[in-house]
Amino acid sequence: MQAAVCVAYGEPLALQTRPLPTPGPGEVLLRIDAVGLCATDLKTISGALAPGTQLPVIPGHEVAGTVVGAADGDDALVGRRVAVYLYESCGHCARCVEDRPTLCPDAVRIGIERDGGLAGYMVAARANLLPFGDGLDAAAAAVAMDAVTSPWGALHGRAKIQSGERLVVVGCGGLGLNAIQIARAAGARVAAVDPSAAHRELALANGAEIAVDPADAEQVRAWAPGGTDLALETSGRRAGFQTAAAAVRPGGRIVCNGYQPGVEYGMDSARLVLEEITILGSRVGTLQDARDALAAVESGAVVPQIMRTAPLTEINEALDALAAGRVDGRIVITPHVDPRREP
Ligand SMILES: [Zn+2]
Ligand SMILES: [Zn+2]
Repeated sequence: MQAAVCVAYGEPLALQTRPLPTPGPGEVLLRIDAVGLCATDLKTISGALAPGTQLPVIPGHEVAGTVVGAADGDDALVGRRVAVYLYESCGHCARCVEDRPTLCPDAVRIGIERDGGLAGYMVAARANLLPFGDGLDAAAAAVAMDAVTSPWGALHGRAKIQSGERLVVVGCGGLGLNAIQIARAAGARVAAVDPSAAHRELALANGAEIAVDPADAEQVRAWAPGGTDLALETSGRRAGFQTAAAAVRPGGRIVCNGYQPGVEYGMDSARLVLEEITILGSRVGTLQDARDALAAVESGAVVPQIMRTAPLTEINEALDALAAGRVDGRIVITPHVDPRREP
């Protein structure tokens, strides 16, 4: 099979011919139909996630595929189209028992600690497979596994968003646009902040009531007198956090989805204490969040923005476009053209 392999940090992925991987106990072999590209892939490839990442590794953690075989000969799932929840956790440690699988110290992520989807085939844990129906495009199912699951986990899992609340989404890239739709589907009202005019237009098209440049962020306070109930930060930048913090009301919550190693956030300690602001970190989501996110995509409640698909041979150009900020929503790699799209 063809695979895009990270062989050295900071270098383009190497296109290699690899033997088909062999599933172990409890695992299946997937033919990869679609892989969404994410800012975390850039961190994997640059070495920002080292030493967790051992090279060589095949990146790609937003994966949808078709089951083609299983180690134990159990073919109940063979032929099924599935999306893959990206954390394989131990299931019995204290964090797993309280359903925080992304905090499991022994968690292994596809595309980061083990080979992911930027290849013709991949091995995946049966417990992580989320089947979906024929009506859903594989690209949308793939993107659901992170770009929808992460804002789902942030807004529902961590921040407990309520109908009627006002939310500001700071950063309207791949996650933020889906966050707007998730919040709207939950009955919340949404304002958006993004420096890109194209992203602001998409934010409005996806249900934001206003979309402003960070320089005009005081307009969010005018839209939500007294401040917003909730702010979602997706940029991972200090300025983004400050915009989120400035927007929330006393008693409000800030939930952070974006991050950059080494970037520190700051907030006036008097505001934090006297206004009883809650600050929440949110790391992807649980298996149930992923299942709910996929269901929301399958029902049409959330329509992930997919800018284009590309073959595996164009992976490095696609990653360059992502790094340069030239992507609206997601680019999705299709190692095999989805056969259902062929005439
Ligand atoms: Zn990701
Ligand atoms: Zn665990």
